[in-house]
Amino acid sequence: MQSTSTSNIAEKQDINSILNAERTRLSAQAGLVQLQHFKKPVERAFRAEERDKVTILFGGLTWKHEKLIQAVFKGSGYKCEVVPTPDVAAFQLGKEFGNNGQCNPTYFTVGNLVQYLQKLEKQGMSRQEIIDNHVFFTAGSCGPCRFGMYEAEYRFALQNAGFDGFRVLLFQQQEGIHAASGEPGLKFTVDFGMGMLNALHVGDTMQDLIHQVRPYETKKGETDRVFGEVGDDLAKCLRERPPFEILEATSGWLKNYLSRPEKKKLKNTLNTLGKIRENLYGRPFTDALESARERIDSIEVDRTRVRPIVKITGEFWAQTTEGDGNFNMFRFLEREGAQVLVEPIATWVAYLLYQAKFNAERRKDVQQYSTRKKLAAEFDYRKKVLGLAIGEVMWQYFYHRINRKLGGITHKLAPQPELDRLAAPFYNRFARGGEGHLEVGKNVYYTIHHLCHMVLALKPFGCMPSTQSDGAQSAVINRYKDMIFLPIETSGEGEVNAHSRVQMALGEAKAKAKLEFEQCLQRSGKSLEEIRAYVDEHPELKRPFYHVPHVEGIAGTAAQFVLHVSKRMDREAGVFRRSRIRMKEAAA
Ligand code: SF4
Repeated sequence: MQSTSTSNIAEKQDINSILNAERTRLSAQAGLVQLQHFKKPVERAFRAEERDKVTILFGGLTWKHEKLIQAVFKGSGYKCEVVPTPDVAAFQLGKEFGNNGQCNPTYFTVGNLVQYLQKLEKQGMSRQEIIDNHVFFTAGSCGPCRFGMYEAEYRFALQNAGFDGFRVLLFQQQEGIHAASGEPGLKFTVDFGMGMLNALHVGDTMQDLIHQVRPYETKKGETDRVFGEVGDDLAKCLRERPPFEILEATSGWLKNYLSRPEKKKLKNTLNTLGKIRENLYGRPFTDALESARERIDSIEVDRTRVRPIVKITGEFWAQTTEGDGNFNMFRFLEREGAQVLVEPIATWVAYLLYQAKFNAERRKDVQQYSTRKKLAAEFDYRKKVLGLAIGEVMWQYFYHRINRKLGGITHKLAPQPELDRLAAPFYNRFARGGEGHLEVGKNVYYTIHHLCHMVLALKPFGCMPSTQSDGAQSAVINRYKDMIFLPIETSGEGEVNAHSRVQMALGEAKAKAKLEFEQCLQRSGKSLEEIRAYVDEHPELKRPFYHVPHVEGIAGTAAQFVLHVSKRMDREAGVFRRSRIRMKEAAA
């Protein structure tokens, strides 16, 4: 009797669950169900009390940037390690543990983190120790391209690889960094922020310089050796220089005055200003830059070697990484006899600031839906644009200031308004994601200003914005007939194929550079031997920071150099002739 009633109850429950499922299906079909939106998982906070035992991991830039950024972390009291440059094995791991259909940098970077954690495990660390004692910091966005999914992708792959609970935090993510109560684990202090600014700009400048010097070094390997030492010393400075503290910098009545509790606000304001000044103009940092400049200038170069200049553009990560992620393209190009013109990270930041102004303008139009709010929206807009404009000016100033301190030969940041104007006929500025209109803008800019012989765009496999801009580039090439432009899709495989395509385009670029050089030599009226003999007598011309003025319309380093040396020779010959005439006149 009892068993019959139990089976009746079970049957009823089955019928109810089937009914409920069917009701949900029909409601969903009719659009009556509130969909469950994806909610980002709440990450365990990185708390201040964990600073001594938790190691911050990061990566994805060049070794110069990473070394300096790591130094700033360490100097601010954090344990910090760099995840090495991703290789093909990391890419395979990304494919194994990540979602299908991602863009190429996702596979590389996600797999790279898994690979690093697996290495820690092999070295004897338990999974729980790895999870508890490490956090990975990365940048993120809300899209529109797959960059918006990186954070989720890291979590998914880590979960699949057995590291569930490993913390992946975005720099801009408040809840992960801040503890629910108490002090946050990563504290954005003035010293930390200014240190990062210096690290980024010095890293960019070194990256540009190394590619300007290495192709012309007379002693093979010298550039890498010197830049390695310079990088170590600059990192040491960023890590070890003492922070500015107003109470330590003052004495006597002023110190007593600022120490009063009621003067705390004034003390803090002066302390902040002092810290900014110290970070930018303090002796330890400026001395370290000066010493770096002198050492780089000691590398001997021969600028009479004719090399085509290849401007690198493309997607942010693919054009920055120095490994398998872009088929080791920079080294390959140099081996093939080219000079690589790299893109600084600062350009991307400048682009974000520039774009933010237009986005604010658009939002203002949406916010001004009522007359009552019109004024408030206008005021907000103007305030925001002013802030962004000041930010832009300061960003440019600080970047170029570091350039000047480190020899003054680094390329200037391409002006954003001009890039926008040049790209406008081909690419809508509001088509966001990745490098947006920059890929098209840079291609035109570097070609029409004769700053390179060829543009090579590195585009990751599966990249949405790069695919869009590739579509536009065919119209660009049609407009600018003498442009040599090659887009290369970077995937984890197919290196030989990619290198062979680059070699073919480079052949054309070499011919262009050679012709330009020969025309310049002819214009100078001298032979290459005469130019070289003069350079041998004037060793300053073999220094990387010897300033060769830019001649409009000429791209090649050797061509520019020959014109300049020839001018110098003519000037000296003129002076010599005039002084001989004067001596003759005096003797007569
Ligand atoms: S820009 Fe392209 S490669 Fe980079 S994250 Fe977006 S979709 Fe991926």
